[in-house]
Amino acid sequence: MKILPIRIFRWIEIKLNKVRRMIIVLKPKTKKEDIQKVVEKIKEKGLKPVEFQGDERIVIHVLGKVTDDMPAPFQSMECVEQVMRILKPYKLASKEHHAQRSVVKVGDVTIGNGEITVIAGPCSAENEEQVMKSARILKEMGVKIMRASVFKPRTSPYDFQGMGIEGLKLLKKVGEKTGILTETEVMDVRDVPIAAEYVDILRVGARNMQNFDLLKEMGKIDKPVILKRGMAATIKEFIMASEYILMNGNKNVILCERGIRTFETAYRNTLDINAVPLLKQETHLPVIVDPSHAAGRRDIIPAICKAAISAGADGLLVEMHPKPEEALSDGAQSLNPEELKKLLKELKPVCEAVGKRMSI
Ligand code: PEP
Ligand code: MN
Repeated sequence: MKILPIRIFRWIEIKLNKVRRMIIVLKPKTKKEDIQKVVEKIKEKGLKPVEFQGDERIVIHVLGKVTDDMPAPFQSMECVEQVMRILKPYKLASKEHHAQRSVVKVGDVTIGNGEITVIAGPCSAENEEQVMKSARILKEMGVKIMRASVFKPRTSPYDFQGMGIEGLKLLKKVGEKTGILTETEVMDVRDVPIAAEYVDILRVGARNMQNFDLLKEMGKIDKPVILKRGMAATIKEFIMASEYILMNGNKNVILCERGIRTFETAYRNTLDINAVPLLKQETHLPVIVDPSHAAGRRDIIPAICKAAISAGADGLLVEMHPKPEEALSDGAQSLNPEELKKLLKELKPVCEAVGKRMSI
């Protein structure tokens, strides 16, 4: 019985929170000084403004507790088109209030604009020869972004832990030599700014999806971030995690479904294909799929990739190793070069069937 008042209080709090969030849509061609006036007014009220520049309009998300009387003064401003209250717990990621889909640009690649972006490469960077060979193989196939982890989240501390900073330097060198863009995971807050100097895309792995300090740090860099879904995270928790990166200023977030843990042991994880259309429905962020960590075995990867594209994914993150049988991590789920080449060929008509193009 004692717990009841707390529950009632929590319920009221949740209800109130539902009407305590807002976004301000400015009229097209609003002048800089008028935008500044809106921003100042938000700050005067002790709230935090986050600006989003759309094609035509600027949308300002207001972060903090918005009381019921707050929308009115903004509504009456000449440059304001609309003030809306947000009902979803997530704001910056929400499609409801950022109707236009976000497109992430990296080098000459755009992710989320109707093309299927393939990011492929070894689970881990192992040595210069292996990384260089991987990059050359991928470039030849037309793959423009290479994944290769240098900080490895291994279940066993006795397994290969990755090349660390040396690996970052290697990725930069290989990137410069071959022209391929690079992507890697960062596990430690302290490594975020360092990694951002060496690679083109940073990744938050499944195990760190709710490492909030890491997410905040990822929000402060100007490189795109791939955020992987935690292995036991709900869709809401996943989107809320992206909110941490977005609210700290980094708008280039890509969500990655990589399978969740279920009772099934026939494969490493269970790819939650439902997540793809739902994330696209709920958020404006690009959504990609990692079939490799979902499957844990290479034989079903081509079929999963086709399902992911059919479900609306904007891209794939696939493990490929020049010699999977010699890989220091995840060899069993890594495609060999021939298998990847064949897969890319098979994916083309699937992309076309859903009105997309392979960016290869
Ligand atoms: C990875 O992509 O290298 C990885 C470790 O995957 P996940 O974080 O999804 O387990
Ligand atoms: Mn791996």
